Amino acid sequence: MKIKLNNKVKYIFVTGGVLSSLGKGIAAASIGSLLECSGLRITLLKLDPYINIDPGTMNPLQHGEVFVTDDGAETDLDLGHYERFTKATMRRVNNITAGRIYHNVIQKERRGEYLGSTVQVIPHITDEIKSHIREVGKDVDVVICEVGGTVGDIESLPFLEAIRQFRFDVKSKNILYVHLTLVPYIKASGELKTKPTQHSVQKMREIGIQPDILLCRTEQKLANKLKEKIALFCNVEVDSVITAMDVKNIYEVPISLEKEGLAEIIVSKLGLSVEKPNLGPWERVVQGLSKPKSGEVDIAVVGKYVDLQDSYKSLTEALIHGGISNDVRVNIHWLDAGALEDGEGLSDLNRYNGILVPGGFGERGIEGKIKAIQYARENKVPFFGICLGMHCAVIEFARSVVQLRKANSAEFAPNTPDPVIDLLYDQDIKGDKGGTMRLGEYCCQLRKNSNAFKAYGVREVFERHRHRYEFNNRYRIQLEEAGLKFSGLSPNGNLVEIIELESHPWFLAGQFHPEFKSSPMEPHPLFAAFIAHSRLRKNGEHTE
Ligand code: GLN
Repeated sequence: MKIKLNNKVKYIFVTGGVLSSLGKGIAAASIGSLLECSGLRITLLKLDPYINIDPGTMNPLQHGEVFVTDDGAETDLDLGHYERFTKATMRRVNNITAGRIYHNVIQKERRGEYLGSTVQVIPHITDEIKSHIREVGKDVDVVICEVGGTVGDIESLPFLEAIRQFRFDVKSKNILYVHLTLVPYIKASGELKTKPTQHSVQKMREIGIQPDILLCRTEQKLANKLKEKIALFCNVEVDSVITAMDVKNIYEVPISLEKEGLAEIIVSKLGLSVEKPNLGPWERVVQGLSKPKSGEVDIAVVGKYVDLQDSYKSLTEALIHGGISNDVRVNIHWLDAGALEDGEGLSDLNRYNGILVPGGFGERGIEGKIKAIQYARENKVPFFGICLGMHCAVIEFARSVVQLRKANSAEFAPNTPDPVIDLLYDQDIKGDKGGTMRLGEYCCQLRKNSNAFKAYGVREVFERHRHRYEFNNRYRIQLEEAGLKFSGLSPNGNLVEIIELESHPWFLAGQFHPEFKSSPMEPHPLFAAFIAHSRLRKNGEHTE
């Protein structure tokens, strides 16, 4: 295959060894941030070795949250870290799975594009992977590409082979291999152990990749002696053995890696001449998080997947960002909606300063969420509903205030006489998802006299969606007359995007997922406002 190369682009490949959950995504995002803070244009790419075409169909309990991009792609949660740590905007091309690669190759084979060759992992699958990596590097100085999985997994082999070959395509001065490993501390002997790292690097070398930089995840700082040992056994320069210390908060990682001189090592190895990274903004974020000046607030999140908080990764982060903008610590309390269904435990909700009902799919826990919302409405607790949370808020209002006792969403009760939430046939659906999901960024126009407008400060906003069901316009007048305010609508007025309550200090729910657009440097306005009102409530300063 003839490959057109842009020789100016540099590539950094981040692989992981020993075990999963070492924080490869955060490491890749932090490298991106350090380079960006040095003035470089960067982007990130995640290669996922599983066979699903994308994670859209995967259970969040197994795989964590599905992160949605502006262009409506359902992607791996690491893309959320990439957007929160850097200014790069992720799109569909920034996440590719083995399933997608094979799908593309098989389609090409069916179209006869391989001109009679036997289609094989090498070179056809590896070429497909490589052309994808090049695709994302068009307008940037550096591509940081994270390979999912752990070295030694069968699944990731074609990806590792592709990145091995890549070195010869772009020349070794344009490429770096960063390997994240574990240096465990063994309490019994009081020692840090290097053997897992040695074995993991051996595995990489068997595949033909010699890591240039080792990020050693550890509880304790690596002494020079230990770095020398790792350097010797793993065939890397001693300066390139980096202590990747456990930190209290993920936003400390860029600073912690920079203390080890990581940016300088990377730019010198890649032959780039740039300034030292300016980490001032990160320092302010970390300072705000570690010593908030205005106390703390307690927020209840009433959801379904509360056992695995990775399922609500962006949400958790967005709440923390809301805390940063108000200089408060946000304590998140995960409440299982199912447990609230019989009404018990509802009065305990008075412990919290704000209640949030997040997005979700399926019927389980719905009645519990509705009860929690009723509590928030009646007791004037600040309430924030997201997607399914908005659906539940509409149902609760229709049932309790408008007396439509059987009001429901057609998602859970297809035969309800009052489907206040329903599939809309005239919704303008983007993409080719069988016309069933509204995915990606859509415009929402705000009513001037509303809490939504107060928070955003502009009339038009763009937010990301991932849902099938919508507010049913048949009920608009009836609910509006009873005090529900439609403060955000699609530009043609057909789709309800935000609802609020007239007679409540702060009760707001949106059809979209604002958490996908929040970052520590730019907290999302709705999360900032929700936390601000939760704080007012806590301090007894809430007036209507
Ligand atoms: N299950 C609902 C729907 O499909 C809400 C989805 C969500 O909360 N993301 O419309």
